Amino acid sequence: MRLRDIGEFGLIEKISNGCLIRPRDVHMAIGDDAAVFAIPEGHVSVVTTDMLVERVHFMRQATSPYNLGYKAMAVNVSDIAAMGADALSAFVSIAIPSTCSVEFITQLYDGMKALASDFGLNILGGDTTHSKKDLIINITVVGSAAVETIMYRHSAKPGDRLYTTDVLGDSRAGLYLLMHYIAPESRELKDLIRAHLLPRPHLREGRFLAKETGVHAAMDISDGLSADITRLAAASGVGIRIYADDLPVSSQLKSFCAKFGFNPLDFALSGGEEYCLVFSVDETHAKEIENRFRLAFDHKIHCIGDVTHEKQNILITADGEAKPLDSSGWDHFQS
Ligand code: ADP
Ligand code: MG
Repeated sequence: MRLRDIGEFGLIEKISNGCLIRPRDVHMAIGDDAAVFAIPEGHVSVVTTDMLVERVHFMRQATSPYNLGYKAMAVNVSDIAAMGADALSAFVSIAIPSTCSVEFITQLYDGMKALASDFGLNILGGDTTHSKKDLIINITVVGSAAVETIMYRHSAKPGDRLYTTDVLGDSRAGLYLLMHYIAPESRELKDLIRAHLLPRPHLREGRFLAKETGVHAAMDISDGLSADITRLAAASGVGIRIYADDLPVSSQLKSFCAKFGFNPLDFALSGGEEYCLVFSVDETHAKEIENRFRLAFDHKIHCIGDVTHEKQNILITADGEAKPLDSSGWDHFQS
């Protein structure tokens, strides 16, 4: 079905079904000039936005519309997770070229709604317009948090321990398989592709950490650990030391690297699009948070290093050698 057969309003009517997941506190959803919703008393708004442009951020032919919608929503929710906030509602603006069918757009929304429903946020509005050639998707997510619990990048302190909320590198390995058209014949390779296509934002983990005493700084890993952690260090005015041996990698990444001749360390350091969190904790609270996290979730946090006074970022290799940690996450893969 072509867009011009049903028109802009016909499309909005089609996609608005299933957008309201948590109706409590919503006074007006899609349908008026603006959305109206309450945020919990005593909370501040936490807002993030991201634009995805065809041929710049994604290839329309290389992904399914469902996966594209799911991931577009996931990366926005991940930014809210990184602040330790709760995600309340999303606003989706799309510029649609005539080469995009109505089915493509409804499947794109199915992906967005699936992620929204998993994390209890509503799609409360947006804008729809025409584009000459490329599909453009902009998503804004509004969240809320008690102001004193928000986790900023700038709050890491010397002596803190550094942790990630998940293993690293799977997404980049999945991208490698997709880019080289390697059919995933095993469950392990399928898991890697899934990590790339359908990343899970660590929203519940972020909210948990925000409420814990001793958690200082946090951010989500989108450009790769080394790139993102150096940003956190710069924002906090500290240095960081990462232990190569402590970087967490999955068994599927290890088998992938063994099979294709890669070093898991490169994937862990520079992978990108991980969407788990990296955070710093006062060392006196570190063990307690490890234990409490393990009780609250079905996975654990991984200590990867610590925060130092000296403003330089260091990687301690497996042989105990100290090397400067280079921030250019993608360099390993470009050569
Ligand atoms: P207006 O002309 O007042 O901007 P629109 O016709 O653009 O109104 O939108 C009508 C309603 O549909 C509004 O509630 C708007 O937020 C919502 N809406 C429009 N496009 C989208 C979209 N792509 N996704 C979700 N909601 C949308
Ligand atoms: Mg409009």
